[in-house]
Amino acid sequence: MPRKIAAGNWKMHGDSASLAEIDALIATHPTPAVEIVICPPATLIHRMVCHIGAHPIAVGGQTCHAAVKGAHTGDIAAPMLAEAGATHVILGHSERRTDHGESDVIICAQARAAFAAGLSVILCVGETEAQYTARQTQAIVAAQLTQSLPQDATPTRLVIAYEPVWAIGTGLVPQNHEIAAVHGAIRGILHERLGAAGAAVPILYGGSVKPENAAMIFGIANVDGALVGGASLSAAAFSPIIHALENA
Ligand code: PEP
Repeated sequence: MPRKIAAGNWKMHGDSASLAEIDALIATHPTPAVEIVICPPATLIHRMVCHIGAHPIAVGGQTCHAAVKGAHTGDIAAPMLAEAGATHVILGHSERRTDHGESDVIICAQARAAFAAGLSVILCVGETEAQYTARQTQAIVAAQLTQSLPQDATPTRLVIAYEPVWAIGTGLVPQNHEIAAVHGAIRGILHERLGAAGAAVPILYGGSVKPENAAMIFGIANVDGALVGGASLSAAAFSPIIHALENA
């Protein structure tokens, strides 16, 4: 069975005052029954790791470079994330694909670097609104997953996040049967690529997950958790999502 994961993507939000949200999460979830991962801006990673101490909340980066070091102004290498205390990294988020032109080839190289640094990879795939309307969702997701997943991926440190681009930050969510179809197809590809180990890779849904819809989404086949943007910024909104996953 795949692990259940509630992951928060803070994007370019958060400063030292935001660590109070971590205190609130720890107080509400002293012994969580699911994995909790928070991916803050890079400036907060080390402070957040120190703040969390022995509690099992994990901390992740939001991207990494494919190289371990070099002349890449503004970038961050996977071993740097690991040294800062991160255990995870989000790769292939649609905002990175759009804002920074990250292709599947680049994302594959980043993933290889992240695995080499000992990080767990939360690999994002998902179609745009135009692709959704053109009924290309399955083809786009299959192509992204196939091309961005390294041949030597470490299955025990791999997490997939299906994030329809048109559902991110919009309040829109695909219908249950649409999520089920995409997650089922992803599971099939993971089986093909990783053999039996593919059955244990968590597949998260991401895109406007809120306290109000979390339980319904977690009831869908092959949904093993969520990658949450806006609602992960406050413990008041993220906690009910974590509880819904614990009870799913
Ligand atoms: C995201 O950016 O990964 C995301 C899912 O955002 P939101 O939950 O705000 O839609």
